[in-house]
Amino acid sequence: MTGLQDSYDVVVIGGGAAGLSGALMLARSRRSVAVIDAGAPRNAPADGVHGFLGHDGIPPADLLARGREEVRRYGGHVVSGEVADAVADGESFKVVLAGGRAVRARRLLVTTGLEDRLPDVPGLRERWGRDVVHCPYCHGWEVRERRIGVLATGPASVHQALMFQQLSDDVVYFTHTAAPLSGEDAEKLAALGVSVVGGPVRALEIGGDAITGVRLEDGRVVERDVVAVASRMVARAGFLGGLGLRAVEHPSGGGEHVPADAAGRTAVAGVWVAGNVTDLMAQVGASAAAGAAAGAQINGDLVAEDARRAVAARREAASG
Ligand SMILES: Cc1cc2nc3c(=O)[nH]c(=O)nc-3n(C[C@H](O)[C@H](O)[C@H](O)COP(=O)(O)OP(=O)(O)OC[C@H]3O[C@@H](n4cnc5c(N)ncnc54)[C@H](O)[C@@H]3O)c2cc1C
Repeated sequence: MTGLQDSYDVVVIGGGAAGLSGALMLARSRRSVAVIDAGAPRNAPADGVHGFLGHDGIPPADLLARGREEVRRYGGHVVSGEVADAVADGESFKVVLAGGRAVRARRLLVTTGLEDRLPDVPGLRERWGRDVVHCPYCHGWEVRERRIGVLATGPASVHQALMFQQLSDDVVYFTHTAAPLSGEDAEKLAALGVSVVGGPVRALEIGGDAITGVRLEDGRVVERDVVAVASRMVARAGFLGGLGLRAVEHPSGGGEHVPADAAGRTAVAGVWVAGNVTDLMAQVGASAAAGAAAGAQINGDLVAEDARRAVAARREAASG
């Protein structure tokens, strides 16, 4: 890690689409800003970012390399490192990196994203982001007309199967350990030509560099090219405990997030969040937009504080 000053107007924790967009807004507003990034964006295993206007298909690492360059162009600092702790310290915040280096900031923007937790089925993690997929908008087009298996994890899996049948005529729904299908859901799947295979799944069958099938506990193998599965999405927020912030269950039941208002303000004054750490469903475009909006809000907040301080100083000078 190089180039980190002792203090900044804003420290951005996490340098994905949300964090870099926030930093860009702040650096262009002539705020001193540092982005501290552990370098593991959520979509790292994917070949390309899809559905992001003007950049469709760009490799995730290339998009972020461009973003870092843009932030640096305006004087922002982007450094590699992992934040281990953050605490309020008087009127500012102290951010402590793994290894002990500390940096101060007047405001914090937390954009650390989330962790995708997958069911404990051998092969899922290994193939995640390639032929194990979760999101029809991220990689649905790429798996169109392939033999798709949907591994059920809960009630949302039926919806996932309905989404993927829009993309392929050959979709199999594996009930795995999910609750039995309701009559209504079973009828929807049947009506749309999605076949249902009951029983727990033991593992994915992998041949060479591709999935070849889904093996059930009873030994049957159903040939498949692609498996869709919903992850449990858990905000990366463990280091926020010292600020009194923590991830809580998301109303969707799909994971845990750090709650915030529409502008990204958390329950702790001076700490904003943006991107997947608060909005579990945000794709790259929405994450970037939320980061930019939070950056603008933070700058506005600092402008107001600077004006208050200037007025107080002016009055004091006039009275003295
Ligand atoms: C396999 C896969 C494919 C996807 N494909 C697409 C797609 O095609 N199109 C699309 O729009 N969306 C896609 N997404 C969704 C996309 O990944 C997210 O929308 C996006 O990454 C969210 O951006 P973010 O900035 O909130 O978080 P992230 O991109 O996850 O960035 C967070 C950053 O914070 C860092 N960080 C975490 N903790 C710390 C810490 N303590 N200290 C410092 N840094 C830390 C991480 O290392 C990471 O670099 C995909 C997701 C997955 C899982």
